[in-house]
Amino acid sequence: MEFNISLSLGYTLVRGRNPGFYQVYKECDIALYRGKGTTKNALILFRPQEEEQEHRKRQIVLGLKTAIERGEFFLVYQPIYDVELSQPIAYEALIRWYNKNLGLVSPGEFIPYAEATGLILELGRYVIDKAIKDSKRLNLPVHINLSARQLYDTSLPNYLESLTKMEELPPDKVVLEITESQDVLMDEYLTSQIKILQLMGFGVSLDDFGTGYSNIVLLNELRPKNLKIDMSIVRMLETPYEEKEAEAIIRAIVDIAKALTIDVVAEGVDSKLKKEKLYALGVNKMQGFYFGKPERLEVLLNLSNSS
Ligand code: C2E
Ligand code: MG
Ligand code: MG
Repeated sequence: MEFNISLSLGYTLVRGRNPGFYQVYKECDIALYRGKGTTKNALILFRPQEEEQEHRKRQIVLGLKTAIERGEFFLVYQPIYDVELSQPIAYEALIRWYNKNLGLVSPGEFIPYAEATGLILELGRYVIDKAIKDSKRLNLPVHINLSARQLYDTSLPNYLESLTKMEELPPDKVVLEITESQDVLMDEYLTSQIKILQLMGFGVSLDDFGTGYSNIVLLNELRPKNLKIDMSIVRMLETPYEEKEAEAIIRAIVDIAKALTIDVVAEGVDSKLKKEKLYALGVNKMQGFYFGKPERLEVLLNLSNSS
């Protein structure tokens, strides 16, 4: 029998300092951990900024465990605007986490850990509960972001159904945003879950469209209520030498969506110029800082009372 053994070593530089055995061991271990999976038979040097990243990661994972019971999460809502009606037609719920040691942590940073630890299921239910209740007070449909992990949860459809019934909210007032990523598009179980949710009357939106697989056959099969053009494409509209490509991509998305009777929403619209260019390309539903930043429910209710 033949074995192939590979050896990798993590190492650190101690010149000019006196870190002690445990610190040296820790630094080598951190370097080795980074190299694992990507390199074989390598010498991997510790980078000082990695220790801070490791420390933050540990604090996030630890903090997440108790964040729900400590009431550290809250939701903010960002309007989705109909440019022709000049008013919001829905709100997207976006989660925020404030921890006293870490400060405000963005979902982009903590959601991957919540997914990896399985906590996303509990967190997801918190978001669903709160957003459905708040939707009634906002008097507009609410968009809720779902992780693929939540779609694997077989109790999700019943959970959503019982909650909307309890709140007497028609299911089409709830739009589930699913990121157009490989996970969702390549997995038959997930697409069947999406279809079940649609049959129950819930709206489905394909988020970050244009950055994943942009699977047109699946788009045809799923016929979501809308797709959201990712802000990286929208940003290109104001980037020198990229605007023509962006226009071509957006025009193509709008054409396909129109043919399949799917609404198009543009994300990350933060300037008048982007708004005008998008409108000229046939997009009339938009979301972004130009129309409104994500705000807490109380702020939005005060705004609508005072206007
Ligand atoms: P997303 O669903 O694509 O949300 C849009 C993100 O763009 C939000 O970031 C929003 O604050 C930001 N944004 C909106 N308008 C503009 C703009 O004009 N310019 C720029 N630069 N940014 C804009 P946020 O809140 O940090 O969320 C990031 C991502 O985290 C979301 O992307 C979504 O994928 C995920 N996420 C947020 N809340 C939840 C949640 O409750 N559950 C799950 N599973 N994921 C969530
Ligand atoms: Mg979203
Ligand atoms: Mg998005």
